[in-house]
Amino acid sequence: MKSPKIFVVFSLILAVSLVYAIDFLVEDNTGNSAGMKSQTNNPSGRKPVTMIKLLMENGAGVAYNDRDEIHFNAGYLADFRGDVRREFRGVVYHEVVHSLQWNGMGQAPVWITEGIAEYVRLKAEYAPDHWVGPGGGEKWDKGYDVTARFFEYCNELMDGFIVELNKKMKDGYSDSFFVELLGKEVNQLWDEYKVKYGQ
Ligand SMILES: [Zn+2]
Repeated sequence: MKSPKIFVVFSLILAVSLVYAIDFLVEDNTGNSAGMKSQTNNPSGRKPVTMIKLLMENGAGVAYNDRDEIHFNAGYLADFRGDVRREFRGVVYHEVVHSLQWNGMGQAPVWITEGIAEYVRLKAEYAPDHWVGPGGGEKWDKGYDVTARFFEYCNELMDGFIVELNKKMKDGYSDSFFVELLGKEVNQLWDEYKVKYGQ
């Protein structure tokens, strides 16, 4: 099912919050949805989070997650041209991942954590139209859409790669994780990825 209950709730929150200034507490019920399944079904594969708070605010940018509080700029949605509900869902997926993923005790580079968050969004089929396509981007460490597409390739090489990468990031971070999981340096993986897509 592509629309688990939580997103019905989110949609209602969105509709109401654009009219009234209300704080909502949102419980993490995403355990069986497509994008979160690999992260949430295995307790060792995610941080032990039971509550994520979503705040619709008059802020800047899009959204950010600070200690399991997702601060969502309502103005971003008000100005968004396109499918607002789809964009909202995609951003929420991204921000919820930040609550569930490991970050190498703070050592993991931002491009990895942002790439994984966008990878989950991609797998949930909420990738925005403006993203680069498969094989796009200059370098694996651009983060966001570029890294998410690259991670999709890595996960094709080894099913479960992202889950295992995240687990390894529980206690620290090293580029050697790519060698340990896929047998190749990240540079080489990127070069082969670009060749695959003729770029
Ligand atoms: Zn992020």
